[in-house]
Amino acid sequence: MPEDAVEALVVGAGPAGLMAAEELARAGARVVVAEARPSPARKLLMAGLSGLNLTRDEPAAAFTAAYSEAADWLAPMLAAFGPEAVKAWAEGLGQPVFTGTSRRVFPVAMKASPLLRGWLARLAGLGVELRTGWRWTGAPGPGLAFATHGGPVRVLPQVAVLALGGASWSRLGSDGRWAPRLADRGVALAPFRPANMGLAVDWPGDAAQLLGMPVKGVALAAGDVRSRGEFVISSRGLEGGGVYAVARPVREGAALTLDLAPDLSAAEVARRLAAARAGDSRANRLRKALRLDPARAFLLRAFGHPLPADPAALAALVKALPVRHAGPRPLDEAISTAGGVMRRAVDEGLMLRDWPGVYVAGEMLDWEAPTGGYLITACLATGRWAGRAAAARACLRCPQG
Ligand SMILES: Cc1cc2nc3c(=O)[nH]c(=O)nc-3n(C[C@H](O)[C@H](O)[C@H](O)COP(=O)(O)OP(=O)(O)OC[C@H]3O[C@@H](n4cnc5c(N)ncnc54)[C@H](O)[C@@H]3O)c2cc1C
Repeated sequence: MPEDAVEALVVGAGPAGLMAAEELARAGARVVVAEARPSPARKLLMAGLSGLNLTRDEPAAAFTAAYSEAADWLAPMLAAFGPEAVKAWAEGLGQPVFTGTSRRVFPVAMKASPLLRGWLARLAGLGVELRTGWRWTGAPGPGLAFATHGGPVRVLPQVAVLALGGASWSRLGSDGRWAPRLADRGVALAPFRPANMGLAVDWPGDAAQLLGMPVKGVALAAGDVRSRGEFVISSRGLEGGGVYAVARPVREGAALTLDLAPDLSAAEVARRLAAARAGDSRANRLRKALRLDPARAFLLRAFGHPLPADPAALAALVKALPVRHAGPRPLDEAISTAGGVMRRAVDEGLMLRDWPGVYVAGEMLDWEAPTGGYLITACLATGRWAGRAAAARACLRCPQG
C-alpha cells in the first residue's frame, strides 16, 4: 500500500474537522483533510436547509449548563470559543448574524452554503488540502489506512484529528462506523443513542388530513423539562423542536404529557367546559370553550380517547394529556447522537490515551445537548481545542534541534 507522510491529518470535513484543520494550518502545519464523501460538510449544509442555528446568545454559565453532565468537561473549550466567538467567526467569513426568537443566532443568509464557501476558500488560502472520497478504514498497521478511488493508501501523519461525526443521517457521511475501529484499539465508548429525535406514534385512521400540520400553543412536559416549542404531526409520529426539547427525558423513560391550554389553569378550563351549551357536541364545546384548533383537537382525540364527559376530568386531560408513543424514532433519523468517545478515553487536549498523537473532536465525543445552536458551537469549540493541542504536540513552530 502506498504511504504518504504528512505533518497533520484531519479525518472528517464537518464543522469540527474544518475547525481543527484551520487551527493546525494557522500553527504552520501542512494539513491534509480526508473526507469519505464526495464533498465536505454535508450535514452542515443540511442543517442550513431549516435555518442554520449557529449558537445561542446567552450568558456563559447558562450556555455551558446545556451540556448537562459534560458541562464541566467542555467548559474550558466553550470558554475559549463560545457564542460570542462563533458570531465573530461567522462574521469574519462574511456572514453577518442576527439573534432570533429564544436567543437563537442565525446567519442573515439562514443557510450554510455561503458560510461554507467562505470557509473553504479561507482554508485553501492557508494551504489546507482537501481530499474527498477518502474513507478511513481502520485497517491495522502504522498510521491511518484509507480506501480511495485510486486504491488503498496509508497516511503517516505526525498528528491526526478524527472528527467523524455521530451516527445519524448516515447518507450524509456520519455513519458511526468508526466506533468498532476505535473500540478495537481499547478506546472507551458509550453506546450511541438518539438525541433530539422524534417520537414514533401509530396514529388512528383519521390522521391523514392532519399530517404535516404544525402544532402551536402547546406545552410539552417530561421529567423536569417543559417546552413551549412547536412541533409537527408527521406520518411517523411527532417531530420538531418542541419534541426534541423533551427527547432526552423521554428516551430515559419519563412519561410525556401535553398541556393543550398552557395559558389557562385547570380550574378555568373546567369552568369554561362546564359553561358550554349542554346541547353542543363535545367537539363543539371544546372548540368554543377552549378555541382548540384542528391539530390540538386531533391530539386530544388521539391520545385522550374515550374523552370523559365530566368537565373537571376533561380539563385534567386537556392540561396533562399523556402521549401514547412507541419510543424514539430510529437513531439514523435523529438530529444528533449521544454516546461516542468517553471523557476518560482522552486527555485534556482531547488526545486519545490509547493512540498517542491522535485527537478526537465534534459530535463523536460523548456529550449531548438540545438543539438551539449548542451542537454546532461545541463541534467548533472542540475542533479548535483538538487542533490547537495537536499543533502543540507536533511542535510545529518549535526551534529545530
Ligand atoms: C437536519 C439537521 C439539522 C441540524 N440543524 C442544526 C442547527 O441548526 N444547529 C446546530 O447546532 N446543529 C444542527 N444540527 C447538528 C449538526 O449539524 C451536527 O451536530 C454537526 O454537523 C456535527 O459536526 P461534526 O463535525 O462533529 O460531524 P459531521 O458534521 O457529521 O461531519 C463528520 C464528517 O466525517 C466524515 N466521515 C465519517 N466517517 C469517515 C471516515 N471513515 N473517513 C473519512 N471521513 C469520514 C463524514 O462524511 C462527515 O463529512 C443539525 C443536524 C441535522 C441532521
